[in-house]
Amino acid sequence: MSTTDVLVVGAGPAGLACAATVLEHSDLSVVVLDAGHGPGGQYWRQPAPASGPGALDGAELADLHHDRGTFVELVRRVEQGRAEGRLEIRSEQHVWSVVPDGERYAAHTVDRSGGPGREAGSTTRARAVLVATGAYDRALPFPGWDLPGVMTVGGLQALLKAGGVRAGQRVAIGGTGPFLLPVAAGLARRGSTIVGVYEANRPGGWLREGRAVVRNPAKLGEGAGYAATMLRHRVPVRTGRMIVSAHGTDRVEAVTVARLDRAGHPVPGSEQRVAVDAVGVGWGFTPQLDLAVTLGVDLTTDLAGTPVVGVDDLQRTSRPRVYAAGEVCGVGGAALAVAEGRLAAAGIVADLSAHGMPGASVARDRREVARLRAFADAILRAHPVPAGWADRLEDDTILCRCEEVRCATVRSAIDELGATDARQVKQLTRTGMGWCQGRVCGYAAALLSSGRPGPAVERLISAPVPLGALAAQPTSEPHVE
Ligand SMILES: Cc1cc2nc3c(=O)[nH]c(=O)nc-3n(C[C@H](O)[C@H](O)[C@H](O)COP(=O)(O)OP(=O)(O)OC[C@H]3O[C@@H](n4cnc5c(N)ncnc54)[C@H](O)[C@@H]3O)c2cc1C
Repeated sequence: MSTTDVLVVGAGPAGLACAATVLEHSDLSVVVLDAGHGPGGQYWRQPAPASGPGALDGAELADLHHDRGTFVELVRRVEQGRAEGRLEIRSEQHVWSVVPDGERYAAHTVDRSGGPGREAGSTTRARAVLVATGAYDRALPFPGWDLPGVMTVGGLQALLKAGGVRAGQRVAIGGTGPFLLPVAAGLARRGSTIVGVYEANRPGGWLREGRAVVRNPAKLGEGAGYAATMLRHRVPVRTGRMIVSAHGTDRVEAVTVARLDRAGHPVPGSEQRVAVDAVGVGWGFTPQLDLAVTLGVDLTTDLAGTPVVGVDDLQRTSRPRVYAAGEVCGVGGAALAVAEGRLAAAGIVADLSAHGMPGASVARDRREVARLRAFADAILRAHPVPAGWADRLEDDTILCRCEEVRCATVRSAIDELGATDARQVKQLTRTGMGWCQGRVCGYAAALLSSGRPGPAVERLISAPVPLGALAAQPTSEPHVE
């Protein structure tokens, strides 16, 4: 069992920024735990440590990372804290539960760094906890989406950033949101032919967002950079279009793309078939709230009705000395996550140490968070999921891939048995009961049954825990309120 002042769960942009800022402005000790192979989170995802022929080092993939300078600087500051004996940062540590433990919080963790079959359990006790667990890809089913070669856009990106792997030679990218562009750009730069980026929404949605755009010129520059990459690699970007089905026998061989009408329904007769060997589809992200929910912090919703952690202007949650930053507070990109991480550090330093952080820098961070959050809200308004996304679902389209539940079964649970939310669909059909625990199909089940994203699900254990690791835990019972 280790003890620290501050526990940071998640070494993505938010967690790293918080840890580095706490070190700089206090004498507090910090432990950072992350489930991944190394610091960076999704945005600055690093390859797994490896040696021998073909092993990659992070520098070989550096061109795939936007704003790498910020990452390098955060890691330098964190490493300095480690050298001074004030910080511990551990990778391949999956925190499966955080509970109050007297005056502290206890984080129960599976250490997977020894490899499969060698998992070990550990507990870290801390005076304060930052939940910076990020988000995961949002998928929607369509006929053929369960064929090998059809992935989420985040999946395509993760393969590329973590291993330099191109999922295919002819790739179609679809869904909605600005994240489609970096994925297409990265693959195109590494030699894939992007047959099309099919953005379901139209650029007109941005006309109402002039204020958020003008206040965020860096985002405009980023967009222009991706547009230049698309032009250079002759990537067709088609708006108001959607990948409505994927075809193939053993793996994906083609997709059908349809034009959407103003209401977001596929226009009959507009379908086009395009040959591909890989597909990436993404409809935004869902905040990873497992630990926040177990901790019992108050949640709120973003503009699209998605549950997010509610925080004050120093990223404090409703629980004493529990803070949240980054995508768990609402999806908004890495720059917002970094700014929120710094603000959380200001909250932690103010609450735990004798002196707070300089008021000017806190005020600057608050302004930055407000500015970037306004841009994130603009993205949500300009990139909704089109109303007609389910029009092309067929009765035998699989909705829950883990439990192999088909759309007909889900529809009959809704239409004939009266299910009105994803929980009832789950109870009646097993949708969401498998390995992914609804992370892949839960959003679709919620939209079909209730017309909106479902509430956050309570998972007392947020990751599979081997019994041996549990047995190795300290015998004292955690104190649960
Ligand atoms: C698959 C994927 C790929 C993405 N790629 C890009 C991209 O290329 N460009 C872009 O602009 N945005 C990308 N995003 C969006 C991106 O998540 C954010 O903009 C940014 O990384 C958010 O920073 P964060 O610190 O909030 O979360 P993240 O970067 O997601 O970091 C969260 C960290 O928490 C760790 N974690 C989560 N749960 C636990 C747990 N229980 N125990 C221990 N550790 C845990 C994760 O391993 C992760 O490292 C991607 C998102 C996803 C889901």
